[in-house]
Amino acid sequence: MNQQELSTRLATVGAFVPEGAHLADIGSDHAYLPVALVLDKKIDFAVAGEVVQGPFTSAVNQVKKNNLSQQITVRLASGLEAIIPEDEITAITIAGMGGSLIRDILAQGQANNKLSGDERLILQPNIGEKTLRTWLMNESYEIIAERILEENQKIYEVIVAEKVAQPINYSQEQLLFGPILGKEKNAVFLKKWQRELKQRKHVLQQLSLAETVPSGKVAQVEAEIKQIEECLA
Ligand code: SAM
Repeated sequence: MNQQELSTRLATVGAFVPEGAHLADIGSDHAYLPVALVLDKKIDFAVAGEVVQGPFTSAVNQVKKNNLSQQITVRLASGLEAIIPEDEITAITIAGMGGSLIRDILAQGQANNKLSGDERLILQPNIGEKTLRTWLMNESYEIIAERILEENQKIYEVIVAEKVAQPINYSQEQLLFGPILGKEKNAVFLKKWQRELKQRKHVLQQLSLAETVPSGKVAQVEAEIKQIEECLA
């Protein structure tokens, strides 16, 4: 297997792993990403962390099948517990999960001193990008790159962040749309937000028919619709 065989989504994540990095791929079902990056000789050391036995076994088998047990260590562990100081990790990839789960993994890792602050974070949330960007901002991670891509009718975002000394301030719009994606507004971005706008308008219509509505919900959806319409204008 090489990087050409990765999904476009995972290849995009892999493209942001620096050459020669010590990588921790967390939630590494099949260890596809670390295996591809080592086979491509982009990196020569990785930890593949998996919390569920089945995907963990698949990752172990994939690493063995490619004779990469010297370069890739697979650990059965939750989140950043897969990392030990001797790994000297310089890049962390967390892909294919919800943004709030990725945030929780990072927050827990930070609380357990698993983050030195020198690692590049390469994150691919399936949903909940705003939640994740908000955590990154509050922890002084600057978003240095973003990508949006479509694969098999699904739209994915990749967020690359590095910790900086100064506080980071993103507006509500930057947190929602992405500070870089919201500036570029490429075709995939426009498609995503047209979809999101339609979906929120549907939610608003449903709320108008509901007998009980949580307080503030209508105002929140209306505010989001306004933000999206302004972005798309
Ligand atoms: N990262 C791969 C990708 O993007 O294709 C796999 C994505 S898969 C949908 C999510 C994986 O994350 C699953 O194998 C799941 O078991 C694992 N996972 C979920 N929570 C985790 C945690 N706290 N620590 C480690 N792995 C976790």
